[in-house]
Amino acid sequence: MKPPSASISRQYGAIGCALLVVVLAVAATGAWLWLDEDAGIDLKREARISALDVIGDAATERLSSATGDATHGSAVDLINRPIEVRKVSDTVFYATGVGNTVMIITDEGNVVFDTGLVLQSAKQLRALQEVSSAPVRYVVLSHSHADHVGGARLWVEQGTQLIAHEEFEEEQRYLSELDAYFYGRNRTLFPWMPAERPDIGLLKYGGLKPTRTVGDHEVLRFSLGGVSFEVIGAPGAEGADNIVLWLPQQKMLISGDFFGPQFPQFPNIFTMRGEKVRKPIEYIDSLNRLLALQPEVIVPSHLDPTVGGSEIREGMLRIRDAVQYVHDETIAGMNAGKTVYELMREIELPSELTLVQNHGRVDWAVKSIWEYYATWFHFDSTTELYPTPVRSVYADVAAAAGGAAMLDLASGYLQQDEPVKALHVIEMALAGKPANRDTLLLRQAALTLLMDKAQSGLKNDYEIYWLKARLADTAAQLRINTQG
Ligand SMILES: [Zn+2]
Repeated sequence: MKPPSASISRQYGAIGCALLVVVLAVAATGAWLWLDEDAGIDLKREARISALDVIGDAATERLSSATGDATHGSAVDLINRPIEVRKVSDTVFYATGVGNTVMIITDEGNVVFDTGLVLQSAKQLRALQEVSSAPVRYVVLSHSHADHVGGARLWVEQGTQLIAHEEFEEEQRYLSELDAYFYGRNRTLFPWMPAERPDIGLLKYGGLKPTRTVGDHEVLRFSLGGVSFEVIGAPGAEGADNIVLWLPQQKMLISGDFFGPQFPQFPNIFTMRGEKVRKPIEYIDSLNRLLALQPEVIVPSHLDPTVGGSEIREGMLRIRDAVQYVHDETIAGMNAGKTVYELMREIELPSELTLVQNHGRVDWAVKSIWEYYATWFHFDSTTELYPTPVRSVYADVAAAAGGAAMLDLASGYLQQDEPVKALHVIEMALAGKPANRDTLLLRQAALTLLMDKAQSGLKNDYEIYWLKARLADTAAQLRINTQG
């Protein structure tokens, strides 16, 4: 068994891993297309496993050669994690990968929690079947994200119960319907993704139908081979359909993404790719209920377990109190008439509640909490009410000021260590003259300054991914500009 995760300080981004499934799919072309959807269930299942095994190998190879230094490492590190089985206790094992697949063994069959990324699921399944090939009685899915449900169809046998949250199908629906939107956004953040979305049936996301569901804060209890299981609806974390699995006899919490990819960290109330906002008060409520269980082991769906009741309790309390603090300060600021931008600048975690912010971060949580309660009208400018954004006058403002004045202004802001103000001016200037080399060089300088701050400060994965994308775009435009 791996040591407790207290020693794990590496940073991983879950945003990418959730969608790597589509990235990897590009290498998979015809190998399995012969599959007849009407084939017998067992034959089809075995064929799926074999096909996915081959596809997974090819795609992983392609990805690791294609990624290079295209990212600062988070998603790539997760995809390069070897797929192997690790033991948590005599009856609990997990197969590593971008997302872990956890298996609990009993004398009357097995329970599987989360099923990883589709392209890694066959390898994970085969590895875990080496430990036990007994029938799978239950598959429990922590939530509907692609890095958790990928192998569900492989694991489900005749008579297997598929347990998920009652909101699972709705979350799956909206994620599926917005597939193109998410794909475009993720491709911006992860440029190694293929330009065209692979359209491969076996790898397609969606369409899973739970046979049993659990509502918010509901507990579904069952026992199998003398082992007690409690599936708990734990809303507010990673989507509206979050559940965890509690093994009371072992005091083990199989947590999915409830805590994010590492423990403890500030939770991701906001997703850069633009999912629905997550609810802070529900999260605190869920945390309180899980705290009452007094877990001694946490087995997450990314990275490795955390062991130790006091360490776990301390971490959970800190997460709970940090979210509560940020929530309450945001509410107080709203009531005091402050703007969301003032609050984003002002609200910081007190030192006793310090948490890493490479996944979720406080200032974006402030904005998310604000907009969760108040939605998009900030009661500030009349123009917010109309579909004529400030950007629509950028080119005219830049022309009125003159190119030289705009460049001077932007350079001045940069010299004052104000890269965001500089970017405002640069965006106005580029609206009028998108190919201006001096303005593009200033944009590169402003983005580089922001990147330096991001990498030496919070090291937030998503901020870094975004800045990388914008820097790459600027470099590409500069190349075109030079050639032209
Ligand atoms: Zn995940």
